[in-house]
Amino acid sequence: MEEDGFHSYHFKNFLKAYSPQGARACSCEREHRVATRSIYLGEGVLKRSGEILTAKFGASPAVWVLSDENTEKAAGSELKRRLKGARLHSTVLPALPEPKTTYALAGALRRQAEEVSPDLLLSVGGGTISDLGKMVSLDTGLPNWCLSTSPSVDAYVSGTSAVNREGTAYRHPDGRLGSSAQRSGSAL
Ligand SMILES: [Zn+2]
Repeated sequence: MEEDGFHSYHFKNFLKAYSPQGARACSCEREHRVATRSIYLGEGVLKRSGEILTAKFGASPAVWVLSDENTEKAAGSELKRRLKGARLHSTVLPALPEPKTTYALAGALRRQAEEVSPDLLLSVGGGTISDLGKMVSLDTGLPNWCLSTSPSVDAYVSGTSAVNREGTAYRHPDGRLGSSAQRSGSAL
């Protein structure tokens, strides 16, 4: 089975165990949640990003795009060319010093995003950029997509962000200490 020409069979089957809100009761007596709704994987996803966006958000949604100078070159600028009709608002972070997932940066990004009342937050990047996009999403309730520019980063599908504070990683939004392994566990 394919959706929109992309292979999403396994993830769709996985989601069947969850309610439409993404919750599932478990034998461990906790409720597990998954926030991710769709994964597009395959050749030509970037080329078809315009039609994917239109199918979900109509002809001219307001989209706030977060990238850094590297991910902008890798995929962000092409993505923006493909999103014809969308009202685009861009934040391109400097490549150096490398952006970090801090509460200060996430707060500044949240204010920028809120100024333009977007229908969608769209981050372009790997772990750091997608975590920053998720933090803005978690704090504003706005839907969030990520165009991934690196493989095998659990940040794309985990339900929390890893935040650095004084050299220690915390999970956002619950503020608990978290390793990367705990973060992925929390999403499932
Ligand atoms: Zn469980």
